Amino acid sequence: MRHPKQAKQLVDRFGRSVDYVRISITDRCDFRCVYCMSEEMTFLPREQILSLEEIYNLAMCFSELGVTKIRITGGEPLIRRNVLDLMQKIGNLPLLEELVMTTNGSNLAEYAEQLKQAQVSRLNISLDTLDAVKFKELTRSGDLDTVLKGIRTAIATGFKRIKINAVILKNRNHDEVIDLVQFALDSGIDISFIEEMPLGVISSHNRAEAYYSSDQIREELATRFTLEKIAETTAGPSDYYQIQGTTTKVGFISPHSHNFCSTCNRVRLTAEGRLLLCLGNEHSIDLKAELRSHPGDTEHIKQVLIDAMDIKPEKHEFNLDEQPIIMRHMNSTGG
Ligand code: SAM
Ligand code: SF4
Repeated sequence: MRHPKQAKQLVDRFGRSVDYVRISITDRCDFRCVYCMSEEMTFLPREQILSLEEIYNLAMCFSELGVTKIRITGGEPLIRRNVLDLMQKIGNLPLLEELVMTTNGSNLAEYAEQLKQAQVSRLNISLDTLDAVKFKELTRSGDLDTVLKGIRTAIATGFKRIKINAVILKNRNHDEVIDLVQFALDSGIDISFIEEMPLGVISSHNRAEAYYSSDQIREELATRFTLEKIAETTAGPSDYYQIQGTTTKVGFISPHSHNFCSTCNRVRLTAEGRLLLCLGNEHSIDLKAELRSHPGDTEHIKQVLIDAMDIKPEKHEFNLDEQPIIMRHMNSTGG
């Protein structure tokens, strides 16, 4: 039973309230997706990442300051040891309304039921292609059948909502957008298409050449499906459409072609305990240092979070033709 709403105390200089936090609980992953990581990655040593207890304490502070939604992500969250204990504890925070997760699906067949029991209500599962060979190429190590089995198990488990996330790259998987939507339709789930963001230096492709816009995808989908625009319901970067006559929604996350910053309601916590005020800027606060220099001092941490709102930037600037200004990869950012 959730308690009545907590006053929103995290408000930035532009009057935006932050009520949604994405927490990356590990920078490690069992995949090496070409748009997310370079082939050879150096991961953080263990002492540099937040312990599960530190993550829980921060989640509690956030919820007491009016955050009602927490997304657990990574790297791949389901490869962190004892992740289910953490999920259970966060799921029990009385002021939290929604606990959700983004996963690559590789461990879902095993964990879906326990995630449901931990009160995870929704899952975003990454799936960029339905072709096993391309899947191996795009993830550099993943196995399509294992992920499809994970998706089927999650559907059978009965989450409130399951959504596929697909990053579309020109000449790699752009020819699959209709098939991916058909897959979502057949499975009775939703799907979002994401434009690639220039986070961290990668060697596998030229990001400007691989750019495939949401508008192109939408035009292509319109040749097969009737998409009806859904009026904005939540402040967020996705533009949603309903496929006529079905329950399936199609979202478009377009950091390049559409700017969504004016309604931004979120911040991110990296695995090493950095609070990122904006995905496309480096403005951040070192919460790990605050936690470790003020052990047990919840009031201090809450004040740090309130003060941090003053440096939340107004908007992001991405330019695919230049070297990324953001040197961190998505796995350490927490997508
Ligand atoms: N490992 C989990 C997964 O893949 O779902 C969670 C973390 S992953 C960083 C979160 C999301 O970020 C995934 O949907 C992934 O496709 C997306 N992503 C990773 N790198 C990206 C990039 N450079 N641009 C846009 N989306 C990216
Ligand atoms: Fe891992 Fe997710 Fe990044 Fe792919 S997108 S490498 S699955 S963290």
